[in-house]
Amino acid sequence: MPDRTLDPMKITGDPLKDSGLSTRAVHAGTAPDPATGARITPIYQTASYVFEDTDHAARLFNLDEIGQTYSRITNPTVQALEGKMAALDGGAGAIATASGQAAQFLAFLPLLEPGDHFVASRNLYGGSVTQFSQSFARLGWRVTFIDPTIADNFGAAITPRTKAIFCETLSNPGGLVVDLEAVAAIAGDAKVPLMVDNTLATPALCRPLDWGADITVYSTTKFIGGHGNAIGGMIVDSGRFNWDGRYPALTEANQAYHGMRFAEKFGALAYTVYGHAVGLRDFGPAMAPMTAFLTLTGAETLMLRMARHCENALQVARHLETKPGVAWVSYAGLGSSPSFDLAAKYLPDGAGAVLTFGLVGGYGAAVKMVEACRLFSHLANVGDTRSLIIHPASTTHRALSAEARAAAGAGPDVVRLSVGIEDAADLIADLDQALAAATG
Ligand code: PLP
Repeated sequence: MPDRTLDPMKITGDPLKDSGLSTRAVHAGTAPDPATGARITPIYQTASYVFEDTDHAARLFNLDEIGQTYSRITNPTVQALEGKMAALDGGAGAIATASGQAAQFLAFLPLLEPGDHFVASRNLYGGSVTQFSQSFARLGWRVTFIDPTIADNFGAAITPRTKAIFCETLSNPGGLVVDLEAVAAIAGDAKVPLMVDNTLATPALCRPLDWGADITVYSTTKFIGGHGNAIGGMIVDSGRFNWDGRYPALTEANQAYHGMRFAEKFGALAYTVYGHAVGLRDFGPAMAPMTAFLTLTGAETLMLRMARHCENALQVARHLETKPGVAWVSYAGLGSSPSFDLAAKYLPDGAGAVLTFGLVGGYGAAVKMVEACRLFSHLANVGDTRSLIIHPASTTHRALSAEARAAAGAGPDVVRLSVGIEDAADLIADLDQALAAATG
């Protein structure tokens, strides 16, 4: 029989806490299948799970026992990925979701009441800016965007209703690095959690929880899965934040569970259990088992891929800096980047694989260059093994105002690359021919 007890410590704990990250990437969360001995975690393609009897069912529905009821809330294949991500990030627990956007929504759900507020970096993935400023606003969740290059800006924007601080480790696009330790100290003083979107860095390059962040969120669609074949998201909780006082969803009596208080009952796992038992139960953006399977397979090579991605990106960035048609290159691994020193501190093994550059010829040249690439695929994604190219102003950041686009590093002249794991020389040759075509 499979292990149906699935005690939350077991599903989300860190049994490899003394192992290195490469070992965790391969092994964490994925012991042989207890039902069959299958070495690879099976795709548990089931909606529901048979109860032992009605008492068992009642205990599960009451959260007196944590176990399988319905795959919207938990699923063994998905839990294997949650365990792997918690172990990679050094968190206490994790919640997998249907996408990175869903992860952000569920990550804020336990924190914000209507009228509450959070402070966010203005240098974010364009979809996050739109989600926060437009869709969250309709729920009464208010945001103030600030320039993240000055850590004190986060503190200056805090109000009595502020319940969280949000930033990206490495911003998409633009590649700005946030001073995580300083921002975590500001969040700690204000007694609000620091939530970090670590999608572009991944735990291979930076572990924000080690620098004092409380929660990480991911689009696993990107480098975690790594092959551009599955949309998914993840929330990892450090389990360290003290929810007392200002977070009623976690501390006050929950009527759907007969007055149970999550923080009191689940301690360090309160936020994680709430994410499953309320967030996924009521809003429903669960990760599909097939997605978890693909992402588990991809995640095994995370460390190898990230090393190669970073090595190629640095070569490409250095090469672009030498080209007369290129006005500037923004990559935190370059000495010319204002984020270079912060990258040396927070991303010592490489500044990721997403970079932007501006063309002297502006919008027209940028569009032509994107269309002239042969090896780089023109599409809206990052973090694939394949190299990718896009013009953010006309695509990912299209919904933003011209000012917000410029502030987010997505002005009209900007081209964004996600550098893959091919041979760097081939990538450089492709960019050279496309540049020549675009700039004459
Ligand atoms: N966060 C970052 C940094 C992203 O780049 C993206 C997508 O591009 C997201 C979040 C949203 O993730 P998803 O597309 O999986 O919903």
